[in-house]
Amino acid sequence: MTSIGHNLHTVRERIATACARAQRPAEEVTLMAVSKTFGPEAVRQAHEAGQRAFGENYIQEAVEKMALLSDLPLEWHCIGPIQSNKTRLVAQHFDWAHTVDRLKIAQRLSEQRPQGKPPLQVCIQVNIDGGTSKSGVLPDEAADLAREVARLPGLRLRGLMTIPEPAPDYEAQKAVHDQAADLFRRLREAGLELDTLSMGMSADLEAAIAAGSTMVRVGTAIFGARPRP
Ligand SMILES: *Cc1c(COP(=O)(O)O)cnc(C)c1O
Repeated sequence: MTSIGHNLHTVRERIATACARAQRPAEEVTLMAVSKTFGPEAVRQAHEAGQRAFGENYIQEAVEKMALLSDLPLEWHCIGPIQSNKTRLVAQHFDWAHTVDRLKIAQRLSEQRPQGKPPLQVCIQVNIDGGTSKSGVLPDEAADLAREVARLPGLRLRGLMTIPEPAPDYEAQKAVHDQAADLFRRLREAGLELDTLSMGMSADLEAAIAAGSTMVRVGTAIFGARPRP
């Protein structure tokens, strides 16, 4: 087995263990492999080890990679910031966009999603720990944006996504993820049809799953350390 295959196996075991501890079925949690900065060969190896969903932050880099991997049935998730001038590429090439935090961006994605493609699956990015310089809507703005996005053609609203600041230990990680899970629950109770809570990365996926994450985004633990930008 390649080291990527081996790492994937280890991450899947971590997910299964975390699900068992939380008394949740393992199928409730999808693993997204975050392949940013790694080349198409790394993605190919992960695919050979059974991985299907891949996350990318840098849109131009991602689109080039997709072209080299178009022979594989992969699912591509945009998890990086989406500027107005990049919405067309996202709408044309990705299956999911997790980082929608403004109505204007959602409207452009809606208008630019090509006819004949399935709807773009969308998560609202929430600034759950309120970092001042961070992207994401504030928690009390999430419901309004979600309602607007849910009405746009060409998009299908699926849920919420968070990127909390790194926390020192499990308890601190869990406390932040619990806040996101509470917000998710409240929006569902308010009638929004959401099924995806995108949270948890290499360092905190156990705490995220304990809180209720349905999709973890894992890079380093699968592909290794990234070169610093
Ligand atoms: C890079 C990145 C990840 C993966 O982080 P790791 O710590 O390498 O697992 C997950 N989500 C987002 C939004 C990222 O930018």
